[in-house]
Amino acid sequence: DLEHPLENDVYEELTPLLESMDKQNKEKEAIANMRKEFSANVSHELKTPLTSISGYAEIMMNGLVKPEDVRGFSERIYNEASRLIVLIEDIIRLSKLDEGGVEVEKEEVDLYSLTREVCSRLAHKAEKHSVHVEVSGEPVSVVGIRQVLNEMIYNICENAIKYNKLGGKVDVWVGRTLKGVKVIVTDTGIGIPEDQQERIFERFYRVDKSHSKETGGTGLGLSIVKHGALLHNATIHVDSSLGKGTRMELTFGKEKEDKGQVS
Ligand code: ADP
Repeated sequence: DLEHPLENDVYEELTPLLESMDKQNKEKEAIANMRKEFSANVSHELKTPLTSISGYAEIMMNGLVKPEDVRGFSERIYNEASRLIVLIEDIIRLSKLDEGGVEVEKEEVDLYSLTREVCSRLAHKAEKHSVHVEVSGEPVSVVGIRQVLNEMIYNICENAIKYNKLGGKVDVWVGRTLKGVKVIVTDTGIGIPEDQQERIFERFYRVDKSHSKETGGTGLGLSIVKHGALLHNATIHVDSSLGKGTRMELTFGKEKEDKGQVS
């Protein structure tokens, strides 16, 4: 009978359920909004390099370039095309994550050895930026999608190198804490202004567009991290001080309950 007031204990039982439904709806809404914004941004981001490519090509085609400038023009076309390739690769990765990454089974992954692998792949980049990277911690496993975890850690560590200062440091720690398994990446880099620390996880958001272009960024790296975190019941937290450095903390909670589940 619907008119009957619910017993108190039923209320008590229902409240957390309703709250969690509410939370799920809000998350869905946030994801839907992110998608909408994404398609608007994507066309803009693809158009910009394509416009320069076709512009340079057209000038060359019409024979308006002096022979000594041909090389410079071709180089610009090549650079813009390379940027497009990176961008498209990132977009594909992100849309795969959006679909939920369901096609891949979760497995037990040792984050410590994964992080070491990632950092050794980044050694060349670190050297180029004169940045010293150090990995410490202990073997800890989480249940997850290896390829996604790999990309998440790669993007965080790559940023710590890219947005560092000449001769700077990156400290990576992987281990278990009371709050869960953590990957903490601390850098001595340029830092992120306080009012933009939440925005950096948005698709295509870059603090300094010109600097990011120089460093070959697409503004998608951290949204991949955020989506990946969602898939793994993990959270990403940023703590940064302008001019001093940034600390990114990835926390995997409840990793045991996740076992065998593909979300
Ligand atoms: P990008 O491809 O531009 O690196 P990301 O999504 O990975 O895109 O990062 C978004 C923006 O956040 C970057 O353009 C940069 O401005 C800022 N950022 C990310 N990580 C760091 C960091 N460790 N230090 C300073 N700024 C950072």
